[in-house]
Amino acid sequence: MAGAMRPAGPGARWRPSELLLPTPAGLYCPPADIHIDPVRPVARALITHGHSDHARAGHGAVLATRETLAIMALRYGEGFAGSRQVALPGEAIRIGEVDFRFLPAGHVLGSAQIAVESRNLRIVASGDYKRERDPTCAPFEPVPCDIFITEATFGLPVFRHPPAAGEVAKLLESVRLFPERTHIVGAYSLGKAQRLMALIREAGYERPIYIHGAVEKITAFYREEGVPLGETRLVAGQDRKALGGEIVICPPSATQDLWARRFPDPVTAFASGWMRIRARARQKGVELPLVVSDHADWDDLLATIREVGAGEIWVTHGEADALVHWCGTAGLRARPLHLVGYGDEGEAETEAEAADAPEA
Ligand SMILES: [Zn+2]
Ligand SMILES: [Zn+2]
Repeated sequence: MAGAMRPAGPGARWRPSELLLPTPAGLYCPPADIHIDPVRPVARALITHGHSDHARAGHGAVLATRETLAIMALRYGEGFAGSRQVALPGEAIRIGEVDFRFLPAGHVLGSAQIAVESRNLRIVASGDYKRERDPTCAPFEPVPCDIFITEATFGLPVFRHPPAAGEVAKLLESVRLFPERTHIVGAYSLGKAQRLMALIREAGYERPIYIHGAVEKITAFYREEGVPLGETRLVAGQDRKALGGEIVICPPSATQDLWARRFPDPVTAFASGWMRIRARARQKGVELPLVVSDHADWDDLLATIREVGAGEIWVTHGEADALVHWCGTAGLRARPLHLVGYGDEGEAETEAEAADAPEA
């Protein structure tokens, strides 16, 4: 074979954008003809987790973890896709000449990163993720890779999440101090609500936890999956005046509407990474802000980028600019993907997550 300039052809290492590239529908892998977390209906979708900005109904075929498929069926009905296939954790699934592996992301039950590998190039699309311990799902598994695709929901140095157990201790201390007041805790209905329940149990609280109807189905699913949540009771049908001193968990939007005002003199709490910004808590009328997040904070974003050892970082959504800038100072190539359709702000941690919470 003469010549050092071998033309790109079968077997040549991919340029990164030949293996994965941002499109209006989401991340697209041309050699396998699949999208990851598409925001529009596509023929073949790989889904990282069940939050509505990532998992949408109407795709032809869906490949996701067993838990994510079950969550999609709960939310959209059994006909949410033309067909579905279970991705086992860590197992390589070959499509065309590309291997896909689903690995835990530590975000919510069933959440996965997707490693995309072909011709010696490995790109990891991490979806949403966190590094803090969470008793309700498998911990994030760092995967060494050439290119790491990260979210940046809390990609500013001001965002540092304290340990969640300490925030839950604040809630229980408030319950102790105000035994006559109902504590209404706004928490996103998939993931955050159940994580709070599990942490409340770990702290030794044994009374029933009251829940809003919008939290019920996912909570029942977590329980079936063996997550210890203790006894929960629906608020509907209870005499709210008799719920003084009890803990009630509801979607964030419900803390601000009529539903919450029917409790006499409640303490309004809100569990979100955004509660780090006190002005936001005040503006939302939150008396007891709890900084509990299912997304990596600034320190954990940086630690994760260092840990996976990628030379190049792509940032999907959130505070991309600050993170891209930091990567530059750390000698890493980085670029924002400007993907649209993923929540980048709001009280359920993302706007899409907030819109997702039914009012009923
Ligand atoms: Zn999410
Ligand atoms: Zn998201």
